[in-house]
Amino acid sequence: LTIHASSHDYEVIIEEGIRHELLNYIASDYRKVLVITDDKVSNIYLDDVVRGLGKELDVHTSIVPSGESSKSMRQYERLLDACVEVQLDRHSLILALGGGMIGDLVGFVASTYLRGIDFIQMPTTILAHDSSVGGKVAINHLKGKNLIGSFYNPVKVIYDTETLFTLPAEEIRSGYGEVIKHAFLSSEEWCSNLLQVSLDNISSEQIKDDLMKGIKVKAGIVESDEREKGIRRYLNLGHTLAHAVESELGYGKITHGEAVGIGLWFALRVSQRKLDASLPVDRYRDWLKSNHYPFDILKDLEVDTLLKRMKWDKKTVHQKINYVLLNQIGTPCVVELSDQEIQTDLNLFIK
Ligand code: NAD
Ligand code: ZN
Repeated sequence: LTIHASSHDYEVIIEEGIRHELLNYIASDYRKVLVITDDKVSNIYLDDVVRGLGKELDVHTSIVPSGESSKSMRQYERLLDACVEVQLDRHSLILALGGGMIGDLVGFVASTYLRGIDFIQMPTTILAHDSSVGGKVAINHLKGKNLIGSFYNPVKVIYDTETLFTLPAEEIRSGYGEVIKHAFLSSEEWCSNLLQVSLDNISSEQIKDDLMKGIKVKAGIVESDEREKGIRRYLNLGHTLAHAVESELGYGKITHGEAVGIGLWFALRVSQRKLDASLPVDRYRDWLKSNHYPFDILKDLEVDTLLKRMKWDKKTVHQKINYVLLNQIGTPCVVELSDQEIQTDLNLFIK
């Protein structure tokens, strides 16, 4: 699968066990590689990856603590130090091995070191099918997520689906929150297939297929709107409430994709009310429930504080909230909702 971006086209390769033969997929003109990963992923996969790069290359590694708090100025600076220390130059490559946290942090390092050197995304979470394409890289500021970043595309995305089998259950749910969002943005058939899937015993074939489809949907949207001026906003389906829930609960209490799964349910219900859309809202709720998405946490949240958070979300402009809704599966639209409407919907939703 080739992704077209204004800077360059890049390939996405999805294959089981590909980490063992990485060298075959990396251009031969790199002299030095810095592999950056987090301390959970490094325990399981770093040795494989280093071996997979072969003996000819000059391979260095750098490890950051796992978790969202590493998407920080501090780790960014530490990693730049590492780049300088091992003397990466324009012929060097940075390899980001990990989930979306690593992809965002390392991508930002790669985009600024020497005004940008090549980097490869090697996603190890399902969620990272979303973060590894589209070219957005960033770190967090105390005042908000992803406030410091740039648009910078990898030279390749190499997905070893074998690594996904060590993910804890909540990370599988998290990834599938974004997968099912991509399904609702694109295809009735894919949606009904997913709504029959149980995440407890999902097959590797299914995962591979869903990652490919999800990346295609995301790439299709991003290719026609790289800088988020128009239809790229559709990718925020489910996210306005998700961000509010995440920040209200405090990061770490719920995964991003779990919050998106719940936010998507809200978006479907509002679409039903406001647009008279015919959507499988109840079936979707049952799917969330049987896959243990933690929507009980909604009970502890206040409508007014959620509304405030939704308005603070940096993606909203002016007074009213621009909400991504669905006219039907595969046909998103952006609708302005008043505070009053959101309040009423949230009240009905949270009960
Ligand atoms: P993550 O990278 O923090 O990974 C989640 C957890 O899983 C971590 O504890 C990690 O150590 C562990 N892990 C990763 N791979 C594993 C494996 N194979 N086996 C066992 N454990 C593993 O989080 P994530 O959910 O992948 O990504 C979330 C981040 O992605 C957020 O920072 C978010 O802002 C960002 N994001 C960016 C974009 C974008 O367009 N750039 C889009 C969506 C999300
Ligand atoms: Zn998301």
